[in-house]
Amino acid sequence: MKSHAKVVVIGGGVVGCSVLFHLARHGWTDVVLLERDELTSGSTWHAAGGMHTINGDPNVAKLQKYTISLYKEIEELSGQATGVHLTGGVLLAATEARLDWLRGVVAKGRYLGIDLEEISANEAAELMPLLDPKQFVGAVRNKEDGHLDPSGVTHAYAKAARKLGAEVERFTKVEDIVRRPDGLWRVITNKGEVVAEHVVNAGGLWAREVGRMVGLELPVLAMEHMYLITEDMPEVAAWNAKTGTEIIHAVDFDGELYLRQERGGMLMGTYEKANKVWSEFSTPWNFGHELLEPDIDRIAPSLEVGFRHFPAFERTGIKQIVNGPFTFAPDGNPLVGPVRGLPGFWVACGVMAGFSQGGGVGLALSNWMIEGDPGADIWAMDVARYGDWATMAYTNAKVRENYSRRFSIRFPNEELPAGRQLKTTPIYDWLSAKGAQWGVSYGLEVPLWYAPEGVKDEFSWRRSSDFSHVANEVATVRDGVGLAEISNFAKYKVTGEGAAAWLDRIFACKLPRPGRMALAPMLKDDGKLIGDFTLANIGDGEWFIAGSGIAEQYHMRWFEAHLPQDGSVCIEALGQKLTGLAIAGPKAREVLAKVSRADVSNAAFPFMGVAKMDIGMTPCLVGRVSYTGDLGYEIWVAPEYQRAAFQALMAAGEEFDIGLFGSRALNALRLEKNYGSWAREYRPIYGPLEAGLDRFVAYGKEADFIGKAAALAERKQGGKLRLRTFILDADDADVIGDEPIWFGGAVRGWVTSGGYAHHAKKSVALGYVPKEIADESDGFEIELLGKRHAARMQAAPLFDANFERMRG
Ligand SMILES: Cc1cc2nc3c(=O)[nH]c(=O)nc-3n(C[C@H](O)[C@H](O)[C@H](O)COP(=O)(O)OP(=O)(O)OC[C@H]3O[C@@H](n4cnc5c(N)ncnc54)[C@H](O)[C@@H]3O)c2cc1C
Repeated sequence: MKSHAKVVVIGGGVVGCSVLFHLARHGWTDVVLLERDELTSGSTWHAAGGMHTINGDPNVAKLQKYTISLYKEIEELSGQATGVHLTGGVLLAATEARLDWLRGVVAKGRYLGIDLEEISANEAAELMPLLDPKQFVGAVRNKEDGHLDPSGVTHAYAKAARKLGAEVERFTKVEDIVRRPDGLWRVITNKGEVVAEHVVNAGGLWAREVGRMVGLELPVLAMEHMYLITEDMPEVAAWNAKTGTEIIHAVDFDGELYLRQERGGMLMGTYEKANKVWSEFSTPWNFGHELLEPDIDRIAPSLEVGFRHFPAFERTGIKQIVNGPFTFAPDGNPLVGPVRGLPGFWVACGVMAGFSQGGGVGLALSNWMIEGDPGADIWAMDVARYGDWATMAYTNAKVRENYSRRFSIRFPNEELPAGRQLKTTPIYDWLSAKGAQWGVSYGLEVPLWYAPEGVKDEFSWRRSSDFSHVANEVATVRDGVGLAEISNFAKYKVTGEGAAAWLDRIFACKLPRPGRMALAPMLKDDGKLIGDFTLANIGDGEWFIAGSGIAEQYHMRWFEAHLPQDGSVCIEALGQKLTGLAIAGPKAREVLAKVSRADVSNAAFPFMGVAKMDIGMTPCLVGRVSYTGDLGYEIWVAPEYQRAAFQALMAAGEEFDIGLFGSRALNALRLEKNYGSWAREYRPIYGPLEAGLDRFVAYGKEADFIGKAAALAERKQGGKLRLRTFILDADDADVIGDEPIWFGGAVRGWVTSGGYAHHAKKSVALGYVPKEIADESDGFEIELLGKRHAARMQAAPLFDANFERMRG
């Protein structure tokens, strides 16, 4: 075994081998994979080997498509058969709601290049002869489904990597990982030590143990998973003989089942409700080649549905039941990327669909390690989407929930119950008493809307029970004054003698003067966005930044990686050390004036001003800015004062009929101002010109801000896309995001978010289209629940186009 390597990959399952292959293919050949046993000795060897392109997140779907396209290449490169059978498949709907969901999947497929087609239940039965069409209302055909040999694929990755110069050391167990003072990693094994610049944790079932070696508690947990293999079935033999083809894959969402042919019989796997966690706290090192005891009672309810939906199963015997563990992150997507605070330590774990996702994970991670960027939008897989709130017990609750809902529909207005009331603010109970309906953001409870007694969300793809109540909240803001809790923003404090120079380099905007704020896009080296913030210059060398709450860890990883080494800048993520309240609407100034002795007149405290002031008896930081696009203020207050500040504002607002509004009303309000938000409109694949944030980029400023050269090039060349607002002729449903935008009879763009703008009384969608058609006002259509709706481009904001309210 070599004593030094550029990269040590820990784990020889499908994911580690894919990472190794991609590193070598990308030109890093001084790389070694360490496997404690034979390759495939974790979850990989007993997988059912199914692969498919669809995923709830379109960017993960793209990587799944890439994974499937890769198998031919690694087979050729390695000479190792992968056993790929591209049979195609059917996705089955037993209810109308499921069919609505599937139509959304088909629509997404149009701009992802995934060939999906809605078909009737009878057509599905012609393709998949075992199903009873009477049990289904419709289906979708996917030509890119199939199955493969898990061991063959893993060895093909490893052999291809070896041919490119990488090394694989089997029976080499990593026992400890120690960071040296010079930043290199000592990877200590039962066979000696390797010193490496980079370490990748692809430990699969043991990812937690490998993480713990560097003090990291990863939010992953293994679940038991069962599939059965039947005896040979005459129906299968007859179909094979008649058509000369295998029986295609089927996913029966309502039965929570997947099926495929296995030799002369069938394989049926379940995601059962009565699921079981495996090895809750730690994974035994002596586990590897054994299977778990099957428990037919646990999967009996799923099988009952399966036998009804696929009657031939009732007439056949079960040859084998496989029960094996594999790992999940709380939301079921992988954990990939560099770990904040551990330079050179990377993770590629929590991969629950290694044969659909392993290639994409390897590609993204190797790009990231070599180029400094994953080269794709992988937010849905980024390890930084979790913070320290994702504890072991939280992970346990969410993974069990996610497993049991693997094939369940999640409606756009549906909030899930597990892992809730984890982080709450001091006014939580008061807001609950006012009818707050809660959502969750980065572990924190967030008021979505306020319901009268006895009313709650009815889950639907269409406008629902909240519609008229959200409309009232919007009217409260636009006609008078509303108050919202905004503690879910990320908040950062920056100090130190080097702060201004550092901020000037990290942000693309012009730095604000003391007492002023600026909208601050943050770019990567390639000139694409990596954040959008409000930057406030508090004075006396103190700076305050507010940004997307869900991206706190993501942004801290970036900030810290770019801090000067001399300690001249200090940045702190304030989390819930600072809570937030917002007041907005034409009466907002009068409310603020009543509770503060500061001069809050327009002249003394204009738009984008920031000042420390007391609200009632509480010390606060107040910025004159509002995501509602109205006259408004964001008020930052320590949690011990939040109740008092809230009470003072509510009491002062009484004479103006102040009312509470939640994040759904805020969404409706920002839509009529064309305001985008991080992770929806603003993502790391768009440039500032494309995203319409170029007006906040100080292209000419002296500081050589990160991404400057690329941003200048984007401005010169014009980029490829444009973010646009559209008004939709919708009937009873509004977009939620990821719908295709049609133009001239073809899909040309995609929706990033939208909803109903209650004040303007318009259904609004924000989305990207190619710049060539971005100035067309008509001729667009947006596909919603299987139907194309005419859409017009809306250039000017629907509300306050002249900024009189906001700046007045
Ligand atoms: C019953 C069942 C059916 C499945 N069906 C499918 C399917 O149809 N399609 C699909 O895509 N996925 C399926 N999966 C999931 C799939 O198996 C996993 O997604 C995949 O195997 C994860 O691979 P991995 O490389 O991340 O982890 P693992 O396979 O667990 O590999 C981790 C490797 O790391 C090694 N390792 C760990 N710690 C160390 C250390 N300290 N030193 C050295 N080596 C170490 C282990 O020995 C192991 O070989 C199924 C899983 C099960 C259990």
